[in-house]
Amino acid sequence: MGATAGVAATPRFTRALHAQGRPRAVVIGGGAGGATAARYIAKDSKGAIDVTLIEPTRSYYTCFFSNLYIGGFRTLASIGHSYGGLASDYGVNVVHDWAVGVDRDAREVALAGGGRVPYDRLVVAPGIDLQYDSVPGYSLAAAGRMPHAWKAGTQTTLLKEKVLAMREGGTYVMVAPPNPYRCPPGPYERVSMVAHQLKKTNPTAKIIILDPKEKFSKQGLFMEGWEKHYPGMIEWLPASISGGVTGLNPETGEIETELDTFKADVANVIPAQTAGHIASQAGLTDRSGYCPIVPATMQSRMDEAIHVLGDACIAGDMPKSGFSANSQAKVAAMAVRGALTDAKTFPARFANTCWSLIDTDDGVKVGARYEATDEKIASIDGFISQTGEDAALRKATFEESVGWYAGISADMFG
Ligand code: FAD
Repeated sequence: MGATAGVAATPRFTRALHAQGRPRAVVIGGGAGGATAARYIAKDSKGAIDVTLIEPTRSYYTCFFSNLYIGGFRTLASIGHSYGGLASDYGVNVVHDWAVGVDRDAREVALAGGGRVPYDRLVVAPGIDLQYDSVPGYSLAAAGRMPHAWKAGTQTTLLKEKVLAMREGGTYVMVAPPNPYRCPPGPYERVSMVAHQLKKTNPTAKIIILDPKEKFSKQGLFMEGWEKHYPGMIEWLPASISGGVTGLNPETGEIETELDTFKADVANVIPAQTAGHIASQAGLTDRSGYCPIVPATMQSRMDEAIHVLGDACIAGDMPKSGFSANSQAKVAAMAVRGALTDAKTFPARFANTCWSLIDTDDGVKVGARYEATDEKIASIDGFISQTGEDAALRKATFEESVGWYAGISADMFG
């Protein structure tokens, strides 16, 4: 669908860009990083830079708050956003197509629909791709029966439907991802939100987490919350206990570990991740599968005409989050304007907060501020919610996250 739209749109934009003779910034990926970058380059350059955003989907569903949709705290519509405002209010050329190649010598992006989009500076923000075969037996096809729901949209609705339809007293098994992955607290907020649903509709159900890690983000806070709100429902098994997942059968729901075979009524398999495929295709990744960058400008270490943001980049001490991607995008947008116009630039500053909801009005958070050193994006200071906090503070923390969601959505899409 996106490709068809792109075929029609691209030649028109390409001609327009040449005709106007303005420097061209092209952004691949209209998510937390790319949409913010496109909007800031267009807004702050006040028409001096021609900005094109390449994004296949017409509606972007945020992964952030998708767990709250599963928990029944948000509607699907409330986490869906369109690109109309970027085009109408900021003059961004939005091309709904897949970028399928980057010709770094010619400085052109190739589109699935056949068009080519020239750039002076390119921002690459494709998020993650899933390494399905990192979990033995898992595959793209298996995700229809055992959803990952680690990219928001149909996978998220599928997982929610399965949770709501689970047999009484059934078992939900999550296979958690290895580091590094998008949203470190995300799997554990997911479990909290599934537990919240099951407590209402299926209170004898069980949740098992098969985790390749020995510890996880905000672990003390989640464990305290699970004990308080969902006693006896959730069991976390790190690899040192389960021995790790050795196979699974999407037909029967069986998940094998060295310890035992678990029969899942609902399986949520979140495999290992890498930078979105276009990044490696463009030669921007290293052996880690992610993209090394220069922290001060978010420029690729492989190509100074390219900036890489968000989940796809190696962001030092910053976690892979929507907040981080949005923060990095503003640094990159400033650097792009500095390179393409005579706009002033300032030292890079980054920030992140990851909120998680454990149960109604029980919100927790972890975050930090960061600066660019020569080697990496380095943490300056950090904060984290404490165990034993009172209900009023936890409610205020949750409300802060609702305000943040409204703020970042407006910052991305206008
Ligand atoms: P994305 O937002 O994924 O955007 C990438 C875009 O690129 C997509 O729209 C995709 O269609 C497009 N794209 C990919 N390939 C191509 C291509 N070849 N051509 C053109 N376009 C392409 N973060 C938080 O800050 N707070 C939270 O509470 C939070 N909760 C989360 C909960 C869950 C369950 C999950 C899974 C994640 C959560 N995150 C949260 C993490 C957050 O969603 C990601 O870190 C963030 O979306 C990363 O932004 P990005 O721009 O790098 O990638």
